Amino acid sequence: MRTEENIALENAEELIEETLEKYDKYVNPGFARLMRFLGTTLEVKTEGVYMYDARGKRYLDFLSGHAVYNLGFAHPKVIKAVEEQLKLIPQTSVRTMLNKPMADLCEKLAKITPGNLTYSFLCNSGTEAVEGALKLARMATGKTQIIATQNGFHGKSMGSLSASGRPQYKEVFEPLVPDFLHVPFGDISAMAAVVTGETAAIILEPIQGEGGVICPPDGYLRDVRRLCDDKDILLILDEIQTGLGRTGKMFGCDHEDIAPDIMTLAKALGGGVMPIGAFIATPEVFAPFEENPLIHSSTFGGNPLACAAAIAAIDAIIEEDLPAQAAQKGEYLLSKLKDIQAKYPDLIMDIRGKGLTIGVEFADEGYVGSTIYTLQDRGILALHMLNNPKVIRLQPPLIIGYDQIDFFLEAFAHSAEINKSLLT
Ligand code: PLP
Repeated sequence: MRTEENIALENAEELIEETLEKYDKYVNPGFARLMRFLGTTLEVKTEGVYMYDARGKRYLDFLSGHAVYNLGFAHPKVIKAVEEQLKLIPQTSVRTMLNKPMADLCEKLAKITPGNLTYSFLCNSGTEAVEGALKLARMATGKTQIIATQNGFHGKSMGSLSASGRPQYKEVFEPLVPDFLHVPFGDISAMAAVVTGETAAIILEPIQGEGGVICPPDGYLRDVRRLCDDKDILLILDEIQTGLGRTGKMFGCDHEDIAPDIMTLAKALGGGVMPIGAFIATPEVFAPFEENPLIHSSTFGGNPLACAAAIAAIDAIIEEDLPAQAAQKGEYLLSKLKDIQAKYPDLIMDIRGKGLTIGVEFADEGYVGSTIYTLQDRGILALHMLNNPKVIRLQPPLIIGYDQIDFFLEAFAHSAEINKSLLT
């Protein structure tokens, strides 16, 4: 393992300033101001569960790039697969000849996903996967209405934003795609009440991620599945954040032994090395895309480099039994955090989650900022949630060690003590 000293760059301060100036001039001055205010630094190297900045400081990753780094940074099996593919054929001719890595990955996805999910469409990000799933649902049913959940998050392009449930991110872009309805997450009666003959699909996350790690009541996913079956509605499960081991099972829906008609994946699918997204559907639902295979397409979707990364990532997740590791480590982390919460009842309102996706809800947004600051100071990366600023998300890589979890717990307890002194 590298030491902090030999990573530090001699001209670190110069490089940080130069990069900030480019952010200011060419990226986004508002973002540059925010980064300056946060006293940000420059990332230069990632390895395993650690990120190193230009000053040579090492950070333990407790964020996983929002559930991208289930395998940690630069997992050797994924890097090797991408390097080998790079030497062979990095990009395809784009649909003039057969693409073996794409076919291999689609086969693998059919094998690891639950139920009869069979056909995959590969794209480059989460929001694209959701767009495709919504288009397929409308085409397969000939209906238009989509029921989604309040506070849900599905991405920021027009269709996925229409499905997302936080008005603050949507209002300035209206009118969005029509015929989306939002009901409270976890409330099956509210959902059943808005179903009409025009309902094409229900879309939701098995656990709301950006909404603040909200776990629905036990049996909710099964109830939603039953409602869809009774009313002939498609169920789209957005597993972009919960999929591939994160919650302690391979998929979030495995906790209730149900399968959707369409599943979306992205984030961890690229093994933390390549960007890739996918939606996977049953043969009946996929039929319209079979009839018209060019109705939905993507230039870079299914490119061999991303597919090689995804195949290696899935193999590593299975070989290292990361879902089980996430379950065990998650239980340990959750119980230790609850011990800390018991000492600071006015400060920490709730600790919740499944596997290694855990939300810590504070009494006030201000404590979130100060906790993140203290953790960063101690060399730990963590962030709040996009749709719930009172919550810090804890999503360490699934390969994290118990000693590293203990290192985090010690820093978290220290930050709680600092917050308590702010309270009094
Ligand atoms: N769906 C869920 C559940 C997500 O958490 C996210 C991103 O955080 C997305 C969709 C959008 O993915 P992307 O940022 O790759 O477009």
